[in-house]
Amino acid sequence: MARLIVVSNRVPVPTTKGSTAAAGGLAVALEAALKAHGGLWFGWSGKTSSEREIEWLEIRDFGNITYAVADLNRRDVDEYYAGFANRALWPLCHYRLDLTDFSRKDMAGYFRVNRSFARLLAPLIRPTDLIWVHDYHLIPLASELRHIGVKNRIGYFHHIPWPPADVLSTLPVHDTIMRGVAAYDLVGLQTDYDVENFAGCMIREGFGKSLGDNWYESYGHRFQVGAFPIGLDTEVFEKMAEEGSKNPIVKRTAQSLNDRDLVIGVDRLDYSKGIGQRIEAFSRFIEMSPSAKGKVTFLQITPKSRSEVPEYADMQKEIAELTGRVNGQFGDVDWVPIRYVNKTISRAALAGLYRLGRAGLVTPLRDGMNLVAKEFVAAQDPENPGVLVLSRFAGAAREMDGALIVNPYDTEATANAIGRAISMPIEARRERYNSMMPKLREHDVAAWCRDYLDALSRESDQPLETMRSAAP
Ligand code: UDP
Repeated sequence: MARLIVVSNRVPVPTTKGSTAAAGGLAVALEAALKAHGGLWFGWSGKTSSEREIEWLEIRDFGNITYAVADLNRRDVDEYYAGFANRALWPLCHYRLDLTDFSRKDMAGYFRVNRSFARLLAPLIRPTDLIWVHDYHLIPLASELRHIGVKNRIGYFHHIPWPPADVLSTLPVHDTIMRGVAAYDLVGLQTDYDVENFAGCMIREGFGKSLGDNWYESYGHRFQVGAFPIGLDTEVFEKMAEEGSKNPIVKRTAQSLNDRDLVIGVDRLDYSKGIGQRIEAFSRFIEMSPSAKGKVTFLQITPKSRSEVPEYADMQKEIAELTGRVNGQFGDVDWVPIRYVNKTISRAALAGLYRLGRAGLVTPLRDGMNLVAKEFVAAQDPENPGVLVLSRFAGAAREMDGALIVNPYDTEATANAIGRAISMPIEARRERYNSMMPKLREHDVAAWCRDYLDALSRESDQPLETMRSAAP
């Protein structure tokens, strides 16, 4: 088995021997894959240093995994991370051209940091290593590695949506981005829709030709694209939810509900999550359903994120004001419709809170997958499950057929779906839950990791047959 190198923007370096504090499912799965293969996890330390350039790595071994992280200087963080990654690629991939900032300075910083990462990583690579690069911060990494002679198989997984050609081509350096993607051997996307969008970007914009079966030839290199929908650490999460009632936060919440129905939403504070539209829909639901007044509580857990990016700071103010308005309009001395919590809650507590939920509202305007949707379902009591209300624009909607699928831009329809979820008879709720759980268990995060790495380790040459029958 080849040694594995995982590269990601942030690296969860363990704090104590062998354990990563409060790791999510993805970190746990990647760590397990690294343990199985032996390997290296490389990326940014998350720290900002005063050094002029990135020039050294902090290297630490835990068992058979080596963690190698570099600090970035202030300019790198501003241009590569807060700038191009989070103010250009993130909004662009979430179809928010109105929020996309095409600063040349940030673009240059993005490519510069990727070049520096490639230079630091290259000496650590052995000839037979498999290299797996994660997410939009690092798209040019493979082409930078190829440039300095790295010939290993290199895969890329794009955790966020892949936009259609008309959206991507608004980016002034979209050709360099496409050239960067084409330097990988396997490009993993979340859903078949992302694979379709990618094909449009490749073919319609003339960056490469299709060889059939999701193989492409571009800039003299052949590579494959595939949908690998990410899963949960389902079994662990189910157990966590089962034991969740012992968690102090869950206990306090259950007591404070006083037999009211709980509707729950959990999202980072991000404009892609549709939190404002969701609050409007909940407000409409309360307005339309006099019997829900005083009887239903909407708990929206929203840790702050990326506050260095101005759009996020604006949004924080907007959502807080909107919540205040709805609570003022409908609240009473002993009940407020919305509890808005601006802090991070541990996954263990979240698992228990989801299980208290009669309905889970996951209504992003655009999302690569959305793990909260899967977590909400996995956390339910099989005998008395809550109902998931899910945006059709989340990658998860391609798999979660037992959810009530909504268009989050349609306030009226989302409000109706909330009402339907809360009043759904138990047999229908069980049926919906049972239609989703087998898939969540089978396609868990370990299977995702295995499927991706199997595909990445496969021989690079596709069968001649496919090549001959391929469209030009
Ligand atoms: N999460 C958490 N605590 C919080 C809010 C979220 O641990 O207070 C976790 C949540 O359980 C999920 C992840 O953060 O595993 C969010 O992933 P998702 O794919 O839904 O959205 P992203 O934030 O990656 O866009």
